[in-house]
Amino acid sequence: MNLVLVVNAGSSSLKYQLLNMEDESVIAKGNCDRIGIGGHVSHKVPATGYVYDEDCNFPTHTEAFEKLVEVLTTGENKVIDSMNEISAVGHRIVQGAEIFDKACLVTEDVIKQIDDLSELAPVHNHPHALALWACSKVLPKETPQVVVFDTAFHQTMPAKAYLFGLPYEDYLNYHVRRYGFHGTSHRFVSGALATAMGKDIKDLKIVSCHLGNGSSITAVNGGKSVDTSMGFTPLDGIIMGTRCGAVDPSAVTYVMGKHGFTPHEMSEYMNKKSGFLGLSGVSSDNRDVCAAAEAGNERAVMTSDILQYQIKKYIGSYTAAMNGVDAVIFTGGIGENSVEVREAVCEDMSFFGIELDKELNKTVRGKLCKISTPESKVEVWVVPTNEELLIARDTLALING
Ligand code: AMP
Repeated sequence: MNLVLVVNAGSSSLKYQLLNMEDESVIAKGNCDRIGIGGHVSHKVPATGYVYDEDCNFPTHTEAFEKLVEVLTTGENKVIDSMNEISAVGHRIVQGAEIFDKACLVTEDVIKQIDDLSELAPVHNHPHALALWACSKVLPKETPQVVVFDTAFHQTMPAKAYLFGLPYEDYLNYHVRRYGFHGTSHRFVSGALATAMGKDIKDLKIVSCHLGNGSSITAVNGGKSVDTSMGFTPLDGIIMGTRCGAVDPSAVTYVMGKHGFTPHEMSEYMNKKSGFLGLSGVSSDNRDVCAAAEAGNERAVMTSDILQYQIKKYIGSYTAAMNGVDAVIFTGGIGENSVEVREAVCEDMSFFGIELDKELNKTVRGKLCKISTPESKVEVWVVPTNEELLIARDTLALING
């Protein structure tokens, strides 16, 4: 077997998947979470249906990795005998800035560079570095580790798409620019779409809508990201579960003054109290907002309207940016499952040549499917994302040269 372990580490969690790259199946997956505040492991083996849950003690990421090794290699439900059977480990890294435009092998220097980027992604990059150090300590020295960056796919954006209207010196001195996120997802679904359409991705203009708890929309021209809605951080773009998306910068300083917020408090307000939650007053979860809207809650109706309207505007603007669009992708928890959001976004888009098959759309949840009519000039597809699989593929490709 050709095994790749994919790790997605946060400040208090370590999500993992062990993949058999011969058939790209998932052998085991789970999460070691509550790191630093207790500890818990939940572990699943899809082939046998084995599920394991236990409270643990994870003072740091090292103990979480030790538990991960234990659940994979010990007991009657072990899936491997030793970590030496694993060909490589692939780590998801949120921010690679302009330093990393593709996946690379982990070295001491690479971990340090990732940690040094923490100023640009404080919530993510330092925990990633802690996990990389912990992994190097716990796993066999010979096991290669690879880092795959969310931002790397967007490094092809031209300056006109990634620069803000701030003085240029802030870009030069402080690296303030649009980086974009969800790059692994946008790359995966664009590639999967080209395969499904039987076309070369080089010949396609795609608007990829990753709509989940965090959402971003990307213009993919010829397989390359040319613009994307998330910016310097994953706060920009459309409204999300608890994130506000794009707002007039003056409104930010004005609200700070009104509430007497520090910059950190304002950041928390925009990241954790806004979006679906702040607008609807109901929930950060799209399902709850939709249910409340259906029950007649006016703020929930308004929240759904804002989301749908903003997605439409991005499809329109990216169609202009690319001088056309061949296909629109819906992915992420909302994009793959919300019949209502897809229908509302595609409503009244005949000017663009978008015509949804509404009956077919109602039947599609979480599976690869074209949902536009045969006459639609622009194809509309639901494409389930699989970032872990692409990280595993990149990891294998890199170690195999
Ligand atoms: P993700 O971050 O990709 O896991 O997506 C989470 C979001 O997807 C949440 O807002 C969920 O409410 C939403 N979601 C998941 N399933 C459905 C569904 N069947 N209908 C509508 N939204 C859904």
